[in-house]
Amino acid sequence: MKKNEKLYEGKAKIVYSTDDPELVIQFFKDDATAFDGIKKGQISGKGVANNLISCHLFSLLENNGIATHFIKKLSDNEMLVRRVKIIPVELVVRNVAAGSLCKRYGVPEGQVFSEPIVECYYKNDAFHDPAMNDDHIIRFNLANADELSTIKATALRINQILKEYFDSIGIILVDFKLEFGRYNDQILLADEISPDTCRFWEKGTNRKLDKDRFRFDLGEVKEAYTEMLCLMLKNRQRTK
Ligand code: UDP
Repeated sequence: MKKNEKLYEGKAKIVYSTDDPELVIQFFKDDATAFDGIKKGQISGKGVANNLISCHLFSLLENNGIATHFIKKLSDNEMLVRRVKIIPVELVVRNVAAGSLCKRYGVPEGQVFSEPIVECYYKNDAFHDPAMNDDHIIRFNLANADELSTIKATALRINQILKEYFDSIGIILVDFKLEFGRYNDQILLADEISPDTCRFWEKGTNRKLDKDRFRFDLGEVKEAYTEMLCLMLKNRQRTK
């Protein structure tokens, strides 16, 4: 598939057009940002790890009946995806307390919830991705009530699939962020699912294997991303 012009460059990815107007290429960069873009860095090998991890997880989800934008892996740091119109609402699903939730509500890190918490944020860097409720989303015409309930139900179904999968390879899925897009009359899971967008803790030790290693200068950042990738590839047969 031929890579044409750059359509969009974000903090961690570049999107290129192709000869097919329905398809685009996502290129995963090594650039890393945190804390609303204030902390910046490079993690060598992150682009490859995130692309391969995302390819693996999108395939796993497709095999479990979730409609995604994913078509196929093109190279170590590129995937071919359907060209969607991103709905500017980020869905965060939390199984265990961590990150901004702890700061906001004083809940201790590591508290396990009996059922997941779903949160919505406005995908808008200029306004620092503020939290939103259903009324904001519907009244601002970001999504209609039907779309919103589909997106939330899909996020919970994805959580079930991923939580079980990661548990089977010795990882606790603490929380993660999803983005959805419109494609013809369908809503597809889009963007990426990687250690940049999820929190992964090693079962038994709670060792962090995600972007928190970069956020909080915990060291061995690249190693954590590679460890997650290796763990997933080693257990590939489980996704079939
Ligand atoms: N997250 C993300 N992009 C964002 C905000 C959050 O991918 O712009 C992910 C983050 O990596 C974590 C989950 O969503 O897995 C919940 O993040 P949280 O609200 O705790 O915010 P953070 O601590 O990242 O500021």
